[in-house]
Amino acid sequence: MALHIMNEANRCLQCKVPMCQKGCPISTPIPDVIKKFKEKKLMEAGKELFKNNPMSVFCSIVCDHQEQCAGHCVLGRKGTPVSFFAIERFISDAYLDRIKVEPVEKNGKRCAVIGSGPAGLTASIILAMHGYDVTIFDDNNEIGGMLRYGIPEFRLSKTIIDRYKKLMDKFDIQFRPNTTLGEALTIDNLFRDGYSTVFIGTGVWRPKNLGIEGESLANVHFGISYLANPNSFTLGENVAIIGMGNVAMDVARTALRHGAQNVTLYARSKRIAASENEMEYARLDGAEFVFGKQIEKITEQGPVFKTAIFDENDKVIGYEEELDQVHADSTILAVSQAPKNKLIMTTAGLEGNERGLLITDENGMTTCPGVFAAGDVVHGSRTVVAAAEEAKRAAYAMMAYMEKQ
Ligand SMILES: Cc1cc2nc3c(=O)[nH]c(=O)nc-3n(C[C@H](O)[C@H](O)[C@H](O)COP(=O)(O)OP(=O)(O)OC[C@H]3O[C@@H](n4cnc5c(N)ncnc54)[C@H](O)[C@@H]3O)c2cc1C
Repeated sequence: MALHIMNEANRCLQCKVPMCQKGCPISTPIPDVIKKFKEKKLMEAGKELFKNNPMSVFCSIVCDHQEQCAGHCVLGRKGTPVSFFAIERFISDAYLDRIKVEPVEKNGKRCAVIGSGPAGLTASIILAMHGYDVTIFDDNNEIGGMLRYGIPEFRLSKTIIDRYKKLMDKFDIQFRPNTTLGEALTIDNLFRDGYSTVFIGTGVWRPKNLGIEGESLANVHFGISYLANPNSFTLGENVAIIGMGNVAMDVARTALRHGAQNVTLYARSKRIAASENEMEYARLDGAEFVFGKQIEKITEQGPVFKTAIFDENDKVIGYEEELDQVHADSTILAVSQAPKNKLIMTTAGLEGNERGLLITDENGMTTCPGVFAAGDVVHGSRTVVAAAEEAKRAAYAMMAYMEKQ
């Protein structure tokens, strides 16, 4: 492995205009990091990665590298691109527990961060690095957001997230677990208690329902509820999954690892939301895919579909009349998520769009002065790197706002 990583580093052409860096949503300084790595300056390379993106170690594992750094490497045009993500993973993992927090004078200002997913963690770390006191509030009992409660363990080990808990102690970031903002505590209470700014990184945690009969039956579940703690569920051998996005792929692969024998995913059309990579992994794990099935209702026996009729361009042009009752011990709905509305309901002036996503300006400021937001709660379900990049911009905007005050 070590030789492989060094070989990969040696293959980098150190392009003057690094396309890999352009392809990275958070502009990771890839050639520079590789240069430092080759010069055996491991900690310097780690520092550069972390400073640019405090979520670097997660991104090295869960980003869609084919679409980003590797997909843009010039070597990939005629051959094999540099696997920068493997180099990044090695460096960021080695650096994570050895981060030396540089002493910084505290400026006496306090920031509240709601949500400890990648957006909240990124904003907190950047603010703490600049001398702000940070308190994170999260309605879960552990930090990480979807890194912990969404992405399955076999793709991302929870032990990495636990290491961030130690890092938060190093940065003197306070954490209030099991504390939902928008219930007993509101954003107004935070300003009352002396926080100068508030960052919202609450993600999208309300599973979308289909509004069909049978959704509340005992053997019907929502995908993200299942992924939060698969051990609490008894699915049986035959599992039907409604939806074919990336979350549905994780649900399928998790169910197969927890005793399900036959897992089938159903989609209405042939155009699906999941990446090819995720779909292929699910197929390798044994999941099956059925297209052209429009769900009508769910019975205790399983989902009931109408079967689509396709034209020669694979467009749905109608449905057969006969209903198709599929037999499944459990049915799991994985058709996307929306934000919960607790903060909008309890904060005067905080506005969302028609999907309930928070409205912000280009610097992440919401419609409430001093309240910033980033990540999935602004754009809907996206990626770890997108959440980190936006949260980084919002954190700098928060600091500029506080300096002016
Ligand atoms: C199953 C699954 C697989 C995924 N796989 C990938 C992948 O492979 N690669 C990738 O890049 N992305 C992936 N994603 C997407 C990625 O996880 C999210 O885009 C990212 O986590 C968003 O970060 P965030 O900080 O905005 O929100 P989240 O990670 O959702 O964190 C929000 C946090 O806020 C807390 N919270 C919510 N409301 C409140 C409140 N009122 N008060 C206090 N706390 C609150 C939540 O409990 C949570 O801890 C996946 C998502 C899922 C669901």
